[in-house]
Amino acid sequence: MTRKTPHDRLPVLLRAAARARERAYAPYSGFRVGAAVLAEGRIHAAGNMENSSYPLSICAERNAVAMAIAAGARRIDAVAIVGGTKRPAAPCGGCRQVLAEFASPDAPLVYASPDGRSVTTTVGALLPSSFGPDDVMGAAAGSMSTLRGPSGSSRSAARSRGTRSSGRRRSP
Ligand SMILES: [Zn+2]
Repeated sequence: MTRKTPHDRLPVLLRAAARARERAYAPYSGFRVGAAVLAEGRIHAAGNMENSSYPLSICAERNAVAMAIAAGARRIDAVAIVGGTKRPAAPCGGCRQVLAEFASPDAPLVYASPDGRSVTTTVGALLPSSFGPDDVMGAAAGSMSTLRGPSGSSRSAARSRGTRSSGRRRSP
């Protein structure tokens, strides 16, 4: 049996995204979207979730990412999205940023309209020159080196180490 690449899983992810779209909660806009992410071998899928307080609505992509992270995953290997009307709807800017937090730039991403038209691309192509974890980590290290207080510096260093290790640790 040959090992499947994340790209090979896109058709399965698309079907999961289409099913999740059916369960989307979008009574106000009627614009239903489903998203599925492949995260460390498992598929997590979700629809968008609107709210009567409109700004609190959450995109399908971010819901699917949150499900993967809640399940303990820390890496997203492929993404599929189903939504749109006249054309496949690409993920919004906010979701591109959230996907880039956990996916490498070459992670495959497909977005498709409900009638089956699709665009296959990568996370990096949708968000080039992205701001990411390395930018923040560098800032934390830089600010630490400028702190010279005897108690303050050791405390902030310890806090920074704790933050870094907890960010990478898998939950038991
Ligand atoms: Zn979005």
